[in-house]
Amino acid sequence: QAKLGGRGGARFFNEEMQQRTRERVALEAALRLGLRDGGLRLHYQPQIDRRSGSLYGVEALARWSHPQLGEIPPARFIPLAEEAGMVAELGRWALAEACRQMAQWRGEGLRVPRVAVNLSTRNFEEEGLVPLVAGLLDAHGLVAGDLTLEMTESMLLDATPSVLAALHALRAMGVHLSLDDFGTGYSSLSYLHRLPIHELKLDQSFVRDLADNATARALTNTILRIGDSLKLTVVAEGVENAVQAQLLAERGSTIVQGYLYGRPMPAQALADWLAGNPQP
Ligand code: C2E
Ligand code: MG
Ligand code: MG
Ligand code: MG
Repeated sequence: QAKLGGRGGARFFNEEMQQRTRERVALEAALRLGLRDGGLRLHYQPQIDRRSGSLYGVEALARWSHPQLGEIPPARFIPLAEEAGMVAELGRWALAEACRQMAQWRGEGLRVPRVAVNLSTRNFEEEGLVPLVAGLLDAHGLVAGDLTLEMTESMLLDATPSVLAALHALRAMGVHLSLDDFGTGYSSLSYLHRLPIHELKLDQSFVRDLADNATARALTNTILRIGDSLKLTVVAEGVENAVQAQLLAERGSTIVQGYLYGRPMPAQALADWLAGNPQP
C-alpha cells in the first residue's frame, strides 16, 4: 500500500474527502427539493408481447434533472436517495405519479394494460404501503391488475416477515409482483417458489451477452424454463437488436423490453409511440 506523502499529502487527502462530502450533501439536498417541487419525472418504456405485437405494459423509470448539473442518471441518484433515507419517499412518489398517469391515459382512451413501478425494499418494510396502494388505485379509478410492483431479486434475499406479509397482502389485492434483475441475485429455487410473485425480469446482462456467450444462452434457457415451471411470466430486459430478439424468440421468450422496441420516454411520447405502433 502506498503511503500518503507526508503531512501535505494527508491534508490534501482530507480536503478532497471534505470536498466530496460537501458535494454529496449538496446533491442530496437538491434531490430532496426535486422530489418535493417537481424536479423528478417518470419516463415510460414499452413492454411488448411478441406473440401478438401488442403492448403488455410499460415500466415507469425515474428521471431527475438537476437545476445546474442537468440530467443525473438513476444509477447515481437512487444510491444517493438510499444513503439519505429518501428512497422510500421516491418510491411513494413514483407510485402516485404512475397511478395518476395511468388514469390520464385511460381518460384519453389509450390502451396501456399495466404500469410497473420500481420500489425499494424500504417501501415494503413500511407499514403504510398496502393502504397507500389501495388508496391510490381507488382515487384514480384503477384496478389492482393495472399495477405491477417491481423489486430486485437481491433485495428479497433478506426479506423480513413484514416484507413477505406486505407482498402477500398485495398479491391478495390483485397487484402484480415482479422480480427485477432476475438471475443476478442468487435466490434459491425453493425460495422463489414460496414468493407470491407473477413475473421474473430476465436481467439485461444475459440478453446483452446472448449472441457471443454460451453461458448467457444456457442461463437464459434455464430462466425461461423456471418461468414455465412456476407459471411466471418472464420479461426479457434490455433487448437492443434483432439478433438478441431472434435468440430470445427461439428460446420461447414472449415478453420483451428494450431499446429495439422503444426507449423510456415521457408520457406524451408514449401516446405518440402507441399511435405509430397500432395495437392488434
Ligand atoms: P431497472 O428497473 O432494471 O430498469 C431497466 C434499466 O435498463 C433502465 O435504466 C432502462 O432505461 C434501461 N434499459 C431499457 N432498455 C434498455 C436497452 O435496450 N439497453 C440498455 N443498455 N438499457 C436499457 P434506468 O432508467 O437508468 O434505471 C436504472 C435503474 O434505476 C432501474 O433498473 C431501477 O433499478 C432504478 N430505478 C429507476 N427508477 C426507479 C424508481 O422510480 N424507484 C426505484 N427504487 N428505482 C428506480
Ligand atoms: Mg425495473
Ligand atoms: Mg432490471
Ligand atoms: Mg436494475
